[in-house]
Amino acid sequence: MDKKPQKIKSVSGAVGFSMQKSKGQHLLKNPKILEAIKNKSGIKSTDIVLEIGPGTGNLTMLLLAESKKVIAIELDPRMVAQLLKRVSVSEYHNKLQLIQGDVLKQKLPFFNLCVANIPYQISSPIVFKLLNHRPFFRCAVLLIQREFAMRLIAKPGSEFYCRLSVNVQLLSKVEHLMKVSKNDFNPPPKVESSVVRIEPKNPLPNINFMEWDGLLRICFNRKNKTLGAIFKQKYILDLLFNNFKKFEKMKENNNFKVNNEESINQFIKNEMEGNDIMEVENDIDDDDKKEKNDDGKNKEKDPEKEKFKSMLMDILTKEDYINKRAIKMSIDEFLKLLDILNNNGIHLN
Ligand code: SAH
Repeated sequence: MDKKPQKIKSVSGAVGFSMQKSKGQHLLKNPKILEAIKNKSGIKSTDIVLEIGPGTGNLTMLLLAESKKVIAIELDPRMVAQLLKRVSVSEYHNKLQLIQGDVLKQKLPFFNLCVANIPYQISSPIVFKLLNHRPFFRCAVLLIQREFAMRLIAKPGSEFYCRLSVNVQLLSKVEHLMKVSKNDFNPPPKVESSVVRIEPKNPLPNINFMEWDGLLRICFNRKNKTLGAIFKQKYILDLLFNNFKKFEKMKENNNFKVNNEESINQFIKNEMEGNDIMEVENDIDDDDKKEKNDDGKNKEKDPEKEKFKSMLMDILTKEDYINKRAIKMSIDEFLKLLDILNNNGIHLN
């Protein structure tokens, strides 16, 4: 048998079927880029590598040559057939485990490294699915849309900084490795691409992730506003006040339990499904608007709620958060704010 690694054939024209945009089918054809991705992944001969969306196997062949085993998950049966054909005539046929199916619907197998040119339209759920995977893997080296990469690595104050940046950087260390041009693909996508390296943080911060999620959704819902303005909004105050009372009752009944360990699963599930628990399309500063009764008269303000509001505002002022804006806040600042609020009986979930 030929012991030399297989040469990558350019796939343009070599595939007997057309690419489906809906499945994000853009095959990486530039051998230099493929080689660079493999090298930057730090792949070792003992690694069990997960590849998501192997397509016709341009990257798979390189990964097979350098690892112990590759487990590839591919949705399109035409790709699966093509890849099987390609691998079966190579020396690596017993190193590949090919799973046909939707990566988002699979329980991921054991792996310690993930290297993939993923379908861009499901980048966010893939990243969160990987970050929820246990045991922790060493790192994931992913080829993704440039703009998505910019959001993953964005720091406070950057135009790309958003909830995604904060959540992904809470769970992992993200690094931009290199840019990849449209013309390195067949067919070329409309957008530019980048390779990033994502290294899961282990251990994770010991927080309640549902509370964390609640805080970030509130803060980033109006990301240019100050926290003072955000927390004064009526629907936020109502929500927090109700939570406050609920938790007080639970405390009275000795029913107060916080389960941090399980909160991450629900948090990740929400991120993967894009659940917008708290999105309220309401851009009016309605805190000072008088509430009306049915007869049109102004509603009496609930003194308990008013007291809660001043307590919340006092905390934000005293702790120096009142004039801060989410777009400029670091993960540590969010963590500290969550801690302060929770310690004062204010719950975000
Ligand atoms: N890695 C290959 C192909 C990348 S294109 C290369 O670089 O050449 C993205 C691949 O992901 C396609 O083969 C597409 O069929 C596959 N894909 C799309 N959605 C998927 C899903 N939900 N689960 C698994 N694979 C998927």
